Amino acid sequence: MKRDLLLLVVCPACRGHLRLDMAENEIRTKALVCEKCSTSFPVVNGIPYLLDSETEVESQTGRLYGDIWKNFNRAKKCPGGGYRAPARSHIELLVMASGVDVIEGNIGIDAGCGNGSTVIGLANAYPSKTIVGVDLSDGMSMNADEIGKLRNAHLVRGNLLALPLVSSFFDFVYSFGVLHHTRDPEAAFRGLVECLRPGGRITVFVYKDFSDIPLKRFLLVPITLIRQLSTRLPAPLLRGLAWLAAPIVFLTLTVPARLLHQLGASSLARHIPYGTFPDTKGIASSLEDRFGAPYEFRFSLDDLRRWADGVKLENVRAVDCLPFGFSGLVLTGTKALSS
Ligand SMILES: [Zn+2]
Repeated sequence: MKRDLLLLVVCPACRGHLRLDMAENEIRTKALVCEKCSTSFPVVNGIPYLLDSETEVESQTGRLYGDIWKNFNRAKKCPGGGYRAPARSHIELLVMASGVDVIEGNIGIDAGCGNGSTVIGLANAYPSKTIVGVDLSDGMSMNADEIGKLRNAHLVRGNLLALPLVSSFFDFVYSFGVLHHTRDPEAAFRGLVECLRPGGRITVFVYKDFSDIPLKRFLLVPITLIRQLSTRLPAPLLRGLAWLAAPIVFLTLTVPARLLHQLGASSLARHIPYGTFPDTKGIASSLEDRFGAPYEFRFSLDDLRRWADGVKLENVRAVDCLPFGFSGLVLTGTKALSS
């Protein structure tokens, strides 16, 4: 853990100041202690675990994504294929959909950073920016050594609903596909805005409710019913089923989408779920995510505009991502200068 992270984190329980409880030469092994409520938080492989009391569902969510990220890291080493979405990465999608520089400024937050690979990528690409990644899961642990070597990147285990980061400080926050898996997505959004300095920008991607496409909304009904069962399955069983189902999804959805794309019907192909996935391994990880996450909320563009109104966001844009090859919505805006 780098010492300048101490200026950026607070106690998730009482938002008190944290101090290092360690000797100078033991920086990789000790704890952070709250000066206000005296709670001690472990630092594991240089990553502070700033988790307050977790609900059982939050623990389940953390375990699920820890497993998914560890498997995903193995899967992504396999060669890919097929056609790709117009936006090739999460950050690229956020930039394309929002039409603005979502990481403008010197210091920002990756809210729900998963294994931390985007944090590492941005920190390497932009040496003048500092990125702090926060995630509930321990999927980031596999990148602890790499983060340790980067002067301008930090990882923290934390809950977006008890965000352990200082208020009114950060220039930008982005979050890709995470808020809808929290117990209270709008509260998580409010907490992230709280961390922004006045004028700072927040950009988030969330699942859409398909209130504008009746057929897709109808198809969500059986998926929601399956989730009632699948979210209760033991993790190894869910993973096994996801790996068994992945080739079926590949043949029935991915292959037809590729054919449509080759025939020049890309705008139709974009409507097909899993159409841009390169292989069955990626599909299996995604199925585990889609059918294992305890919480999965969905939103309309109006819902997102209400979120923005609720925190008096300015320069607001709410955008459907379908033209960019992703099924979901992006909301961006800046924190009011007067707040
Ligand atoms: Zn405290």
